[in-house]
Amino acid sequence: MKAFMIEGKDVSYFTDVPEPQLTDGDSVKVQVESVGICGTDIKIFEGKHSQSIGAKRIPGHEFAGIVTEVGPDVKDLAPGDRVVHEPILYCGKCYACRNGQGNVCSSLHVTGCNMSGGMEEFFVAPRRQWHKLPDWITWDQAALIEPYTIAAQVCARAEAKAEDTMLIHGAGPIGLMLADTAMHMGLTVMISELADGRLALARKIGVTHVIDAKKEDASEAALRITEGVGPNIVCDCAGVPKMAEEAFRILSPAGRFVPVAGVKFECDGYIAMRKQLKIVASRLQMHQFVPVIARFKLYQEHAQQMITDVYDFDDTKKAFEYASERHPETGKIVLRFHKAEDVQA
Ligand SMILES: [Zn+2]
Ligand SMILES: [Zn+2]
Repeated sequence: MKAFMIEGKDVSYFTDVPEPQLTDGDSVKVQVESVGICGTDIKIFEGKHSQSIGAKRIPGHEFAGIVTEVGPDVKDLAPGDRVVHEPILYCGKCYACRNGQGNVCSSLHVTGCNMSGGMEEFFVAPRRQWHKLPDWITWDQAALIEPYTIAAQVCARAEAKAEDTMLIHGAGPIGLMLADTAMHMGLTVMISELADGRLALARKIGVTHVIDAKKEDASEAALRITEGVGPNIVCDCAGVPKMAEEAFRILSPAGRFVPVAGVKFECDGYIAMRKQLKIVASRLQMHQFVPVIARFKLYQEHAQQMITDVYDFDDTKKAFEYASERHPETGKIVLRFHKAEDVQA
């Protein structure tokens, strides 16, 4: 079968790999229909992803498809079912797993990151890594479910409540999905961004306070909007260390800072102590697929608006080249395997 392989910076190609077979009674084989391209995939393509350096990698962790075969122990999925993939596979035995936090398992496997991913025609994984899709979610939209689970995890980790105010730095796909998720929870959401294309996307999905960071200092804007109290939650989806440091200054008392982008920053422990701030990191997601799929009607319209580019799987390389040019007007890029046959969309 056909797979898209990345060998490192500037080396990527389609290749023929053996079609995967069921590995045990609990495994499920799926024919892939759609895959989203995420920042992580772009890093792999550019040879900058630490876990993939020196490895050949079939990327893709945001994907959905049709069940073609199930092992004898699988009773609740059948060939023909539409499913979305949950990319984390944890051991179930280590300290993190015993404490219900498999997303930080000491031997975590993440599809398309430290093992093969969904940019290939078929994929086999255990039953628990597949979630049934209702037929009103199109294949293109299904590719956005995984990043929406990341957003849901951030809200859970930040203990977001309807009465909270949230400032998000960066209106890339994760920032936008986080804004969308938080808005539907009732929060007052502010998003700051430099690029006009992304600002336009944020306005398009109706983020209440869109801060053009070229024109206004994002921290000052957030203080003004919150009438001097400061946001209750600041999420860094932009990876700008200075904004993380600023967050400590502007957060409300008992505020929470979530370093979503995961860059190194300096933290003033004195300010953090004085205001009793929390730094709550958020990795991947845990148990968020079922609720996100159940709520997806809420996100559907905005999710569709975030999909700015759809490529045929045959054009994956083109899609990656385009993605790595980082056009600011680009939201989510989705690859499609059998577009003409999509009866759902
Ligand atoms: Zn992703
Ligand atoms: Zn574990």
